[in-house]
Amino acid sequence: MIQLTDIHKTYKVGKKSVHALKGVSLSVNRGEIFGVIGFSGAGKSTLLRTVNLLEKPTSGKVIVNGVDLLQLSERELRLSRKKIGMIFQQFNLLNSYNVFDNVAEILRMNKVSKQVIKRKVDSLLLLVGLQDKAGEYPSQLSGGQKQRVGIARALAMDPELLLCDEATSALDPHTTESILDLLLDINEKLGLTIVLITHEMEVIKKICDRVAVLEQGEIIEQGSVLDIFSRPQAPTTKNFIRTIFDDAIPTMMLNNILVERPVSKVVRISFRGEAALNPVLHSLAVRFSVVTNVLSGSMITVKGMPLGMMLLHISGEEEAIMRAIGYLEQTVHHVDVIQELGVVKP
Ligand code: ADP
Repeated sequence: MIQLTDIHKTYKVGKKSVHALKGVSLSVNRGEIFGVIGFSGAGKSTLLRTVNLLEKPTSGKVIVNGVDLLQLSERELRLSRKKIGMIFQQFNLLNSYNVFDNVAEILRMNKVSKQVIKRKVDSLLLLVGLQDKAGEYPSQLSGGQKQRVGIARALAMDPELLLCDEATSALDPHTTESILDLLLDINEKLGLTIVLITHEMEVIKKICDRVAVLEQGEIIEQGSVLDIFSRPQAPTTKNFIRTIFDDAIPTMMLNNILVERPVSKVVRISFRGEAALNPVLHSLAVRFSVVTNVLSGSMITVKGMPLGMMLLHISGEEEAIMRAIGYLEQTVHHVDVIQELGVVKP
């Protein structure tokens, strides 16, 4: 559905230039929800705005729906953009228009007949749960309701693609949940492809199929959300995952462990939720003569799929520990040795 190839973007600010995107390539499949996560200044907005050419890249290729957007005339580009909806962190509503007119505006601009507009807007307001707010003005709405108007407006021209620019960043956690549920619903009901940018791993975890991690204008990691959660590679990705599952071990705990069991390892394991873990931990003790302590653990839901994460402290003979870890690697989804304590040098 979208193919970005080797996108560079340099902003000129006076005599200085900012290299905001440095050779970004990614593809988004039809019908999927694709997330781009990164810290502030990473280049997320620039990247998102490249997809509908609100921001023209300095070089690179932008293909949407098989069309090379950079080859289009202004008029052709305007037509193509109708099939790309966009929602914003600050909602961007017209304050002097009521809810109905905010959604109807773009249809009027496209000379759609009055009856069709009425039918269309009513059905969109029903879809976003605002059927009883048609006559109200943005100032009378909560943040979540404003974003629902933003979503209805973005869907007015029946887009195939929806771009979400930090769409939930101005909302409280509860409202964020409900807006993300709405986006999921729209994705499923309308088969709409969604690309979103965010700095919150919660957003990625809840609705995205795939994710790219952007840092200083470069994609440092990308893949399915389940894979990225269970085996993050880059330090920045690991930091984002820590906002969901903290695998840091308090120093006091570490010192106690060292005194009691000098030769040991701390491993982070992740396992698909449906796999029962108890027999695995039991086997470690029985088959490998190691002592296993659970330091912490939690079960998270990644786009409806349960994923377990656990920090284990395994102690015993060095060789037994290694064999135990080998067994874990074959049994659970992923194993990461994150600390080696007092390992005896050969
Ligand atoms: P993010 O969305 O991840 O916060 P942005 O895409 O907004 O990142 O910005 C990436 C970099 O490009 C930043 O260094 C930012 O200051 C710079 N930048 C973004 N837009 C402009 C602009 N219109 N003019 C100059 N520099 C810009």
